[in-house]
Amino acid sequence: MIPYGRQDISEADVAAVVEVLKSDFLTQGPAVELFERAVADYCGADRAVSASSATAALHLACLALGVGPGDLVWTSPISFVASANCALYCGAEVDFVDIDPHTYTMSIEALSDKLERAARQDRLPKVVIPVHLCGQSCRMDEIKRLADAYGFSIVEDASHAIGGSYKGGAIGSCRFSDITVFSFHPVKIVTTGEGGIALTNKPELSDKMALLRSHGVTRDPALMHGPADGPWYYQQVALGFNYRLTDIQAALGNSQLQRVDGFVRRRTELADRYTRSLKELPLTLPWQHPDTSSAWHLYVIRLKPDQISLSRGEVFGRLRSSDIGVNLHYIPIHTQPYYLNLGFKRGDFPEAERYYEGAITIPLFSGMSDAQQDKIIQCLEQTLIP
Ligand SMILES: *Cc1c(COP(=O)(O)O)cnc(C)c1O
Repeated sequence: MIPYGRQDISEADVAAVVEVLKSDFLTQGPAVELFERAVADYCGADRAVSASSATAALHLACLALGVGPGDLVWTSPISFVASANCALYCGAEVDFVDIDPHTYTMSIEALSDKLERAARQDRLPKVVIPVHLCGQSCRMDEIKRLADAYGFSIVEDASHAIGGSYKGGAIGSCRFSDITVFSFHPVKIVTTGEGGIALTNKPELSDKMALLRSHGVTRDPALMHGPADGPWYYQQVALGFNYRLTDIQAALGNSQLQRVDGFVRRRTELADRYTRSLKELPLTLPWQHPDTSSAWHLYVIRLKPDQISLSRGEVFGRLRSSDIGVNLHYIPIHTQPYYLNLGFKRGDFPEAERYYEGAITIPLFSGMSDAQQDKIIQCLEQTLIP
C-alpha cells in the first residue's frame, strides 16, 4: 500500500536521537530549547513553546488567551477535531464558519457575515482559529482586519503548514495572529513522533503557555507569591498540565528541521506533477490563492459527480484495492456524533458538507517516488475514464 502520508527519517535523524539517549537528559534538557529557538527563527517569530502535541499546544493557546466558560471560539468545520476540541477543554462553546468553495479554508465572506450577526446578538467570539488546510494559508490579512474590527484573538492552526508562506512571509511569523500552532505528528511535514509547538510574538502569551505546559509550577521568584523558602523552592501558581515535549523528540525535530525546505520542495514538485497529469480528468484539483505558497501537506481531489458514474465510495474502494492508501480530510466536525449532541445539525455548513461529499486525499509525501506517483495517476485514469 502506498500510504497517503509518511515520515521521512534519515540516518542523521537517527544519530541525533541516539545522541540524546546517551546524554544526561531525556527530557527537560537542552534539546527542547534548541528546537524552540530553531523553529521560532525559521518562521521569524519571537517566541516558541513546544508541547507534547499540536492538540496540547492548541489547548495552551486557548488558555493563554483567557478562553473559559461563557466564551465562544470559532473554527473551520473542515479540520481535524482537535481544532475545535481545544475550546471545549477550556469550558468554552464552539461554533464554526463555513469554508470557501475554492480554497476549502475558512470563508472570509462567511466569517464577516457571521461576525455582523454575532455583534448584533452580543455573541462575538473570543478567539477564531483559522486552519491552513492542506498547507495553504487562510487569507490572514482579512481575518486580522476583522479581528481588529470585532476584537477577537487569532490562533492559526498551521498543523499542515510549516514551510509554507503567506504574502512572502513564513507561516508561523504571527504577523497576522496572536499564536500559530504546528503539529509534528508523523504524517505532517516535519515530525518529532508526537509533538507540537505554539509560536507567538507576545511574551506574556509564551510565558503563560510555558507555565501551563508544566503543571502551573514555577521556579521563577518573580512569579511567586511571597519569598522563596530556599533554593529547592517551587510554587504552583496555576492549574497546568504535563504537556512537555521530550528531548528525544526535540532532537528528532531539530534534525528534521534542517531538511524542511527540501521536504516542501519535493512535495511541491509532486503536487505540480499531479496538477499537470490529472487536469483532463473529471476532477476539481486544488486551487491556490496567489498570496499563498503551500507546504503541500495534503493533495485533495474532488470528484465532479455529474461527470462520473461511480460514487465517491466506489472510486475510493477501487484505489484502496489497487494498494493506493487514499484517505479523507475531513469529515465535517459538526457532523461528528459528539458535536451533533451539542446541538449542531447536518445542513448547518453547506459548503463544508458539499466538499466532504466528493473529496479524496491522494498520497503525497516527500519520500514518494515518481514511479509510485505514476501508478496513482494511472489508476485514477483507469478508474475515472471508463
Ligand atoms: C494533526 C492535526 C492536529 C492535531 O495534531 P496532533 O499533533 O496530532 O495533536 C490539529 N489540527 C489539525 C488541522 C491537524 O491536522
